[in-house]
Amino acid sequence: MTVFWKILSWEIPSKRLYEDDKCIVINDINPKAQIHMLIIPKKEIPTIFDMTEDDTSLIWHLHFVWAKMAKEMWLEWCKMTFHVWEKWWQEVFHIHLHVLWNK
Ligand code: AMP
Repeated sequence: MTVFWKILSWEIPSKRLYEDDKCIVINDINPKAQIHMLIIPKKEIPTIFDMTEDDTSLIWHLHFVWAKMAKEMWLEWCKMTFHVWEKWWQEVFHIHLHVLWNK
């Protein structure tokens, strides 16, 4: 069970900045920028490589959510990234979109 699954099931308490039926948004516990949010789908998919075609709308939904939040927070620019496998720093095998912003 991953840490994100524990957060989703409230086993680990966490402040949800946003939630809908498909995902939650939380602050990264170890931020790499002034704002560092994680968009986490409620469906557990270990890596992007484990996606099926049925998951494509879910992935676009994650993008919709970060853009909606960025607009609401007046972030004119930001970086978003998926890490894929350890070589590219993926630590938690439950896909999540990093959204980073610096002034
Ligand atoms: P990744 O390297 O893409 O797997 O990123 C996992 C991210 O999850 C890292 O940036 C961690 O700092 C973050 N993280 C791990 N545990 C927690 C937690 N309990 N709450 C918030 N963020 C977390």
